[in-house]
Amino acid sequence: MADDGMELQRLLRPDIATMEEYTPIVPYEVLARRLGIPEERIIKLDANENPYGPAPQVYEALAACKRYNIYPDPGQTLLREAIEPYLGIAKEHVIFGNGSDEIIDLIMRLFLTPGDAVINLPPTFGMYSYNASLCAASVVSVPRRSDFSPDVEAIERTVHAAGERAKLLIVNSPNNPDGSSITDLDLERLLRLPVIVVLDEAYAEFAGRSFVSWVPQHWNLVVLRTFSKWAGLGGLRIGYGVFPLPIATELWKIKPPYSVNVAAQEAALASLRNRDYLSANIERIIRERERLLGLLQQFSGLKAYPSQANFILCRVLRGESRNLKDYLAGQGILVRYYDKPGLQDCIRISVGKPEHSDALVSALSMYFAGLESVSV
Ligand code: PMP
Repeated sequence: MADDGMELQRLLRPDIATMEEYTPIVPYEVLARRLGIPEERIIKLDANENPYGPAPQVYEALAACKRYNIYPDPGQTLLREAIEPYLGIAKEHVIFGNGSDEIIDLIMRLFLTPGDAVINLPPTFGMYSYNASLCAASVVSVPRRSDFSPDVEAIERTVHAAGERAKLLIVNSPNNPDGSSITDLDLERLLRLPVIVVLDEAYAEFAGRSFVSWVPQHWNLVVLRTFSKWAGLGGLRIGYGVFPLPIATELWKIKPPYSVNVAAQEAALASLRNRDYLSANIERIIRERERLLGLLQQFSGLKAYPSQANFILCRVLRGESRNLKDYLAGQGILVRYYDKPGLQDCIRISVGKPEHSDALVSALSMYFAGLESVSV
C-alpha cells in the first residue's frame, strides 16, 4: 500500500502533489441537512447568486427544446449573433465558455508556460491564482490599496521587474470581494504595459459600466463577462470572453468544442430575448444593495464598504468574523467568510431580496447584543 502511494507520487506532477486543494462553498442542501433546517428556509447570501433566478421564459425554452440528443453548436452561432446588440460589439470578438471560469482557465493555458508570471491583485477572486498554479506559473501579488483600488505604480514596477516572464495581469472590476471598480485612467495606464490585461467584469451589469467597447482598440485587452449573476444562470454555466480578433483566433484552437451545452445556449438566448424582465431584477438588486448598505452601516461592530456589485464586504470590528459567520449559519443565513491574509476579519454578504436583508439585520442585532451582554 505504502509502495503504491510512492509510485503514485513518482508519477504525479510534483507541483500538483504539493498544491493546496480548492475549497468550494458548502452546498446548501448539505448545510440544511447539517443544521436540520428545511432547504427553503436557508437564506443563501454566500455566492453572489441572483435571488430572483432566471427569466421565466428560460424555463419555457428549456422545456420546449427538442435537441438535447444532439451535440451543441461548437461555433455558438446563434448565441454569438444574439449577443452583438447587447454588447455593441461584433460577434467575432466573443467566445462563450462553461462559465467564465472556463474562459479564465483557457486564457491561462493559452499564454502561460511553467515559470511565467501572472500579476494578481489581491484581495480578489480566488480562481485566478488557482488556475495560474495549475499552469505551473508563478503568481506575483500586488496587493490593492486600503481602498481596494489597484496600486498602479506598484503594478508597473512589478511587470517591469518580471521582464519577459510577465504574461498576464488580471484585474477584477467590480472587484470580488469589495465591489470597487477600476477607473478609466488606471485602466488606460495598465493597458500600456507589455502584458495581456484580463479584465473580469462578472458583475458589470450591477455597476452599469463596462469596458467591452475598448477591446477592438487594444491588442492586449480581454474582457470577461457571465450570465451567472445578472441573468441568474449560475447553475447552467455560461460565461464569455470578449477578445481582440488575433487572440480569439488562438483561443478557438484550444477550446473544447462542446463545453457550452445545448441547455446553457438555449437559456442564454432566452435571457437575451427577455432583457426587460431581467433588467427590472437588476434594478431591484441595486436598490436593495443601497438599502442594505445603509442598514449595515448602522452597526458599530461592522464597517460596510460601498459596492458596485451584488455583494457588500464588511469588516467585523467587534468579535471574530468566523464566530459571526458561524452564528449566522446557525440561523440559516449563509455569508462568505475568508480564511485568508488581509480578509480574516471580513465577511461578504450577497444582496438578496428585501426580506433576506431584514432577516440578516435582525440576526446581526441579536449577535451584537449577545456580545454586549458577554462583555458587560
Ligand atoms: N469572476 C468573478 C469575479 C466571480 O466572482 C465569479 C463567480 N463567483 C466568476 C468569475 C465565475 O463566473 P462563472 O459562473 O461565469 O464561471
